Amino acid sequence: MTDALTITRDLIRCPSVTPADAGALGVLEALLKDAGFTTHRVTFSEAGTADIDNLYARIGTEGPHITFAGHTDVVPPGDEAAWSLGAFSGEVKDGYIYGRGAVDMKGGIACSVAAALAYLRDHGGKPKGSISFLITGDEEDVSINGTIKLLQWAAERGEKFDHCVLGEPSNQEVMGDCIKIGRRGSQSGTLIVEGKQGHVAYPHRASNPVPDISRLIVALSDEPLDHGSAQFQPSNLEFTTVDVGNTATNVIAGIARAKFNIRYNDCHTQESLRALVEERLARACGNRIRAHIDWLPSNSNVFLTKPGPFTDLAVAAIAEVTGRRPELSTTGGTSDARFISSYCPVIEFGLVGQTMHQIDERASVADIATLTKIYRGILDRYFA
Ligand SMILES: [Zn+2]
Repeated sequence: MTDALTITRDLIRCPSVTPADAGALGVLEALLKDAGFTTHRVTFSEAGTADIDNLYARIGTEGPHITFAGHTDVVPPGDEAAWSLGAFSGEVKDGYIYGRGAVDMKGGIACSVAAALAYLRDHGGKPKGSISFLITGDEEDVSINGTIKLLQWAAERGEKFDHCVLGEPSNQEVMGDCIKIGRRGSQSGTLIVEGKQGHVAYPHRASNPVPDISRLIVALSDEPLDHGSAQFQPSNLEFTTVDVGNTATNVIAGIARAKFNIRYNDCHTQESLRALVEERLARACGNRIRAHIDWLPSNSNVFLTKPGPFTDLAVAAIAEVTGRRPELSTTGGTSDARFISSYCPVIEFGLVGQTMHQIDERASVADIATLTKIYRGILDRYFA
């Protein structure tokens, strides 16, 4: 059976809690192979992380080449007893299919596979260009042995992608309300203020880093990093911890640390952002406070797929099926689109995200049919 609901059910029944695969990639590989795709299973490793299985499948040798990306791994179910229907049951009740991954994002992958197979059936088994699938089992955790390496592997084989649709649950309330065309970057760091430890009764012999780190937190939090850009909301810097590691009330701590994360837009690069924050820190410190920032490595750069023919084509397919014109959004957390954007323009469009990562994650059966039609509409227009 190659309808989207059946594929969704078969995927949900594989308990592929990251990093386990539990047969999920095999479900897709068998369907795609049957339809004439050349398939590759590629395992990537790195010390300290679990080996991850990935799937690449392509039909056609010419351009244009559209690829559907996604992940079959899911977050843990939480308290399985709390689910109305089993967390990996794939059962349908009152118009919803239940199970971990139903919306994030086994349902989205199932719709793209069903749409591609239907397109091929209607076109003598061959696309006018190429259709491929880039499916990883490593998105919900560290994202080290998944999309990032699969893209490098594909590039080394000479694979060239013209456009990508990533089926993450992009819609907020109803099908067709939102396409993601970019994401903000993410950069974390720790602010460290060095004081001098001492007795609280003799503060002149110590240097208390607590008031100073408070001043620096306020200084760095209060001044906007920018005022947003054409496609992005303003960047924001959020302090998430403050810590002196002190258990005594009669001791002035010698050092204070505060962790922060910045979600930044296309007014910045990682380098310019770090420079801006350090310059502000230096100004706030003057020549009295001794402080510095330890930056964490980040592979979450900001990206944007500029509105143009490809987004227009997706909007037209969505409008035809749903009657809605989606917002082109850049909000939310990171996704594998940040890696794909270095290879080709990428948009994210999938199911409605309301129940993702929750107990009773479920996808509307009607939405699965709608998404399959939209993906089919994208393929029809893409190869028209
Ligand atoms: Zn996801």
